[in-house]
Amino acid sequence: MEEEKKVKAAKAEEKKEPAKKAPAKKAEPAEAKKPSAAALKAALAQMEEQETGKKKNTALWRVLSFVMWALAIVAMYLPQIGDLELPFGAMRMLVLKNYTPMIIDIVVAVALCIGAALLWKKANHIHPIKSHNKIAQFIWNQLGLIMAFLIFFVIGLVLILKNDKLDAKTKKIAIAALAAITLLVGGVSADYHPVTQDEVDKVTQEYNIDTQDPDGCYWTTYGRKYHLFDDCQALSNTSAENLHHTSLQEAWEANRGELCSFCAKRATDNGLTDTPAISPNNP
Ligand SMILES: [Zn+2]
Repeated sequence: MEEEKKVKAAKAEEKKEPAKKAPAKKAEPAEAKKPSAAALKAALAQMEEQETGKKKNTALWRVLSFVMWALAIVAMYLPQIGDLELPFGAMRMLVLKNYTPMIIDIVVAVALCIGAALLWKKANHIHPIKSHNKIAQFIWNQLGLIMAFLIFFVIGLVLILKNDKLDAKTKKIAIAALAAITLLVGGVSADYHPVTQDEVDKVTQEYNIDTQDPDGCYWTTYGRKYHLFDDCQALSNTSAENLHHTSLQEAWEANRGELCSFCAKRATDNGLTDTPAISPNNP
């Protein structure tokens, strides 16, 4: 018995060895991963907040998102309240075979959910989630998709299945319609370029962004965004007198706080190194 235990212990020891070494291997500098365009945009947006002292009110946008999601639930599922003849509650209208208000309610709920998700994503792309937890990051970044699934599919399915006033055929059609609406709203609400604060911090630490560089960026008299490249496709129709060439700081002060998506993608595709006003911190 004693002998057997020793052998087992030795074997366990053997197994432990490589497991201990594995993390050390991972810590070796891997091939530098290029930052995402979304991370660059968020890093610049946070820098703008710091330098101009004007914080974007993402907390308010998030509150508005939840208000809109709540209103979408009202539009879809408001029950009968006493004798009040409220036109909201698509599910109740379905039972009453009152189809016109039902369709209007669904359209309103779809618009509210999409609006909420777009606002939520906009907030995330300026102030991303700080948690390092992958599950928390997924829930936070894909909350629009999750809410679309909960509001249009989960709640709807439960209420339809529980309803004894609807016949089997109507139930089937209603469930199929809910699935289609869920796919539509979920597809628009999902964040295909999620970003975390860790990625944003990496951009800020690894690259030196010179906000005072007079060659920093371009913006136009009528456009709301600023550009890093003068040959950006979005600038092709801009006449010379409407094109401004300034530092990032001046663009921000002129209320051009958002980086153009074409330029963000091109900068990160280049690893940022060929970008005006952005150079590696440790060349
Ligand atoms: Zn551009």
